[in-house]
Amino acid sequence: MAKTMAVNAGSSSLKFQLLDMPAERVIAQGVIERIGMDDAIVTIKYGVSIASENAVDHLEDDEHITLSKDGKGKKYENVLAIKDHQQAINFMLQKLTDLGIIADFNEITGVGHRVVAGGEWFNHSVVVTDDVLTKIDRLADYAPLHNPANAMGIRAFQKLLPHALSVAVFDTSFHQTMPEENYLYSLPYEYYTRYGARKYGAHGTSHRYVSARAAQLLGKDLKDLKLITLHLGAGASITAVQGGKSIDTSMGFSPLAGLTMATRSGDVDTSLVYYIQEREGLSNEEMTNILNKKSGLLGISTISSDMRDLLDVQDTHDHAKLAVNIFVNRVVKYVGQYVAEMGGVDAIVFTAGIGENSIPVRKMIVDKLGYFGITLDEEANNVRGDEVEISTKDSRVKALLIPTNEELMIARDVEALK
Ligand code: ADP
Repeated sequence: MAKTMAVNAGSSSLKFQLLDMPAERVIAQGVIERIGMDDAIVTIKYGVSIASENAVDHLEDDEHITLSKDGKGKKYENVLAIKDHQQAINFMLQKLTDLGIIADFNEITGVGHRVVAGGEWFNHSVVVTDDVLTKIDRLADYAPLHNPANAMGIRAFQKLLPHALSVAVFDTSFHQTMPEENYLYSLPYEYYTRYGARKYGAHGTSHRYVSARAAQLLGKDLKDLKLITLHLGAGASITAVQGGKSIDTSMGFSPLAGLTMATRSGDVDTSLVYYIQEREGLSNEEMTNILNKKSGLLGISTISSDMRDLLDVQDTHDHAKLAVNIFVNRVVKYVGQYVAEMGGVDAIVFTAGIGENSIPVRKMIVDKLGYFGITLDEEANNVRGDEVEISTKDSRVKALLIPTNEELMIARDVEALK
């Protein structure tokens, strides 16, 4: 069976998942953090049944293999100097071989790469060619922290696995179906034509996966459904999916727009940004940093960007409570907008860190949406990370919990392009 790797390359990290396709079975997954440092961390998780007898069992000093609590999985860990992505990937592939997870590099026949910005050039996943790589480089203007790292990952894999099909899967492409009135800002039109100043959205692979899965769970054709997908993680966005197409989404030109996030502000009146900048004497770079790294749940609560911490202390900490309330309020507002835009909704779908795991946040949100015919089944909602309907049987609008699976979506796109 063909093995496909789904890759998410960041500036100093690289996450991967290795899947057997088309069986869609995860064979191994892992992450290399702190690339470029003397103490980079490599973690690889894999099933106990996978490592074959010829797997190398000799480990260096800093290498460890531990068994998971349920006895079904193993975790390989190592701390070592890794100078760049090329070395990181080479090490990871060599380790997969040493551990008996793959027999040799050639077993990996496809590699799918998450790419953050696809602009208007990419409305679906594509096989990487020289032209595609050039475009990903040029789109770095839209995602300066991400696209260069994504491109670096692609080039490094191409060198090490020249025979494998290389595919780019864009965070923005699902949203390319938005109509003009939704993606354009009310700015002079020439900025759109000159600079591509418009809404692109993000988390597209996640919204695409959970909307398709929702249709399966509801036993309906995606074409006949109006869905609102709530990707609530550290980064958070909401999408209106009508007939399987994204028609509006809460992130904008960049992932700063929309909801209140862990450390990102979400929507703010732009003139307020200039006002604060002037009063505080902040440079553009400093202000951008505040909006991206010091705002959101962290900025309001003053104590943490993590929803778990805020829920733990909200009864005794006013700012923590306020941050939770503002988070919920923004979600409810966007859902309301999208119900209005689509002229109704059949189901809302919760996913990502907060959406999948926070029972109280899901309850707060659904309780506020009762007005359009959605009722929470409190017992069904009392779960973390399951795939389950959390609205009551007689709820006119359904609420679903669907753990996202961007890696699977990436691997499927690789398969489809083979
Ligand atoms: P991202 O991929 O955007 O980094 P995730 O989707 O992994 O983020 O979500 C991470 C966030 O999920 C954490 O910051 C935390 O706030 C939230 N989270 C995880 N588990 C829980 C939980 N049990 N209750 C509330 N929030 C949770």
